[in-house]
Amino acid sequence: MKLDKNLDIWDTVKKKLKYDPKIDADIYNSYISETFLYKQIEKNLIISINNEMSKSIINSINDTVTSILKNEFNLDLNIEYKYFTNKEFNKIQQQPIDVVENEVYNELDDTKESTLIIDNKIMQNNDDKYIFNNFITGKSNNEAYIAAKQVAENPGKLWNPLFIYGDSGLGKTHLLLSIKNRIETLFTSYKASYISSEKFGTLSIDSMTKGYVETEEFKNKFKIYDVLLIDDIQLLAKRVKTNELFFYILNYFITNGKQIVISSDKMPDKLKNGFEKRLISRFNSGLNIKILKPDYDTALKIVKAKLKNKNNYSNFTLDAIKYIAKNFSLDVRKLEGVINRMIFYSILQKKDEEQLIQIKDIEEAFKHEDFKTNSENSSLTIKNIQKFICSEYNISLKILLGKSRISNISKARQVAMYMSRKFTDKKLFDISQEFNRKDHTTVLNAIKKIEKEIKTNNEFKKFIIKIEKKLEK
Ligand code: ADP
Ligand code: MG
Repeated sequence: MKLDKNLDIWDTVKKKLKYDPKIDADIYNSYISETFLYKQIEKNLIISINNEMSKSIINSINDTVTSILKNEFNLDLNIEYKYFTNKEFNKIQQQPIDVVENEVYNELDDTKESTLIIDNKIMQNNDDKYIFNNFITGKSNNEAYIAAKQVAENPGKLWNPLFIYGDSGLGKTHLLLSIKNRIETLFTSYKASYISSEKFGTLSIDSMTKGYVETEEFKNKFKIYDVLLIDDIQLLAKRVKTNELFFYILNYFITNGKQIVISSDKMPDKLKNGFEKRLISRFNSGLNIKILKPDYDTALKIVKAKLKNKNNYSNFTLDAIKYIAKNFSLDVRKLEGVINRMIFYSILQKKDEEQLIQIKDIEEAFKHEDFKTNSENSSLTIKNIQKFICSEYNISLKILLGKSRISNISKARQVAMYMSRKFTDKKLFDISQEFNRKDHTTVLNAIKKIEKEIKTNNEFKKFIIKIEKKLEK
């Protein structure tokens, strides 16, 4: 662990000293402000001081220091003040020192003063569940997965902040907690904190209501961490004071090379209403990655994996499994619900060993439910896209699929082909078939034309983005 990570327990004491009415501001500035925690060996803290003179001054206030440690943090520690010559000082600055200071921080966590930063409610019993190995990847989430893994393996070095966004139930929390778990496995001296924005909001308001010192303490609590994972940042919208605090912490992390990972249900630019510009621009300054709704292939992989996990894979026909993936994959949370429901249903029906769950059983199990299925929503078909483009261009499907070369019509056709390629998993050849074209080169040319026009014609680009947004809904 690097030196600067050791500053915090002492830093916390220093903050207290700074606002202690018994300590003169000049004394503080001249003799205390530059000191730092060099090492902890069991119950002994070794504090580096700037000159020999400091020693006698600080010694004279040592009672205050020990009583702060004892009363505020319930820590019984001896303190030794040590002066390093410039040469020694430079040397220790460069050396990572392996001390057992974690003990101090753990104790610090447990005191009533420092309300737990880690959201235990979420972490409980979930340590095994939220790991990268359990995260099924596919086209819809691969980028987010890779970025998260890279960050976990190189905390503070690659993307800072890493900003993961996407609709609810798509795996954001899963990824954040996987990062935490992985970092703690790989870097045993690192401390990672996961916190929901809700909790962050409550704790920050709490501290600000109490006063300045408490607010400073609140900020400092985060400084002991090497990695901060903050979930659902959109919940902090319009909370001006909390945002200021968060901005401070975010900057502290980034400037100190400590990793920060943020999740949100919207991309940074869409958070503009509730957040200051400087925060949005910080959010944008690292890497933003969107998690999409699971496409069919990913959904299928997820259903298979979840059924295998629960030892239920062999109780379903492959068609039934495909049916679930196709119809219930609006989000992974719902998908899990459906899987559990079907497992429950299969037990309830006390099916024979050989009698597998089939599509009709699934339909039966959900017949009373207004369970929104996926087929018309997120898994866009080429037909849906064609119909949609027809309505945008105000032409009939027959004309779109016909041979007319009138420019408006061929443009609509090209756009439809382009969107079909973008929003479905279909191959060029399959698309050409659905457009009554003989071979795939027509589709390929259409896509190229559209891509080129997007680059050169801004109005057209806007139009395409608008259509894409409507299709994504
Ligand atoms: P979000 O935070 O985006 O709302 P969560 O991370 O809470 O979503 O995910 C919802 C549920 O779906 C969790 O139980 C999570 O483990 C599971 N889940 C999401 N994505 C995946 C995935 N790709 N593979 C396996 N499980 C997933
Ligand atoms: Mg979540």
